[in-house]
Amino acid sequence: MPTARKPAALRAHDHERCIEDALAAASELCRTQGARLTPMRRRVLEILWQSHKPLGAYAVLDILAAEGRRPMPPTVYRALDFLLAHGLAHRIPSLNAFIGCSAPGAHRDGQYLICRNCGTVAELTDTGLATELGRTAHGHGFAIESVLTEAVGLCPACAGTGVDAA
Ligand SMILES: [Zn+2]
Ligand SMILES: [Zn+2]
Repeated sequence: MPTARKPAALRAHDHERCIEDALAAASELCRTQGARLTPMRRRVLEILWQSHKPLGAYAVLDILAAEGRRPMPPTVYRALDFLLAHGLAHRIPSLNAFIGCSAPGAHRDGQYLICRNCGTVAELTDTGLATELGRTAHGHGFAIESVLTEAVGLCPACAGTGVDAA
């Protein structure tokens, strides 16, 4: 059974480690790509990593404003664009919100498990699903360039609390 590498978002864990690891991975990736992780870009990434729940651009702005920075919206959008372009964050279309990438630079296609109760999003980096779809599409003469999968349901924490019965 593929029980290894269960996404951190779906189990109890030390989230401070998630944040530290994500920022360290971002620094390293930017260094190898010759990209600049400016203080604003870094802080926006850190904000996205506050939890495993995606944030909209305006939520990010609000947090920065509460810190007394209040940047102009384009500044935040540019920071988010940078994070997206370098694979450090992803945009989840159905939520119009952003999450930090759990494996920056290691994958191209996004597979997200979205909890409809608490809003937690877990990212899967299993390429088997995309490979299978690619094979089927290829059989129809279609060349897939990217696949984005959004699965909605209940995370283990929410499924265990019987929210369905409420
Ligand atoms: Zn975490
Ligand atoms: Zn949940």
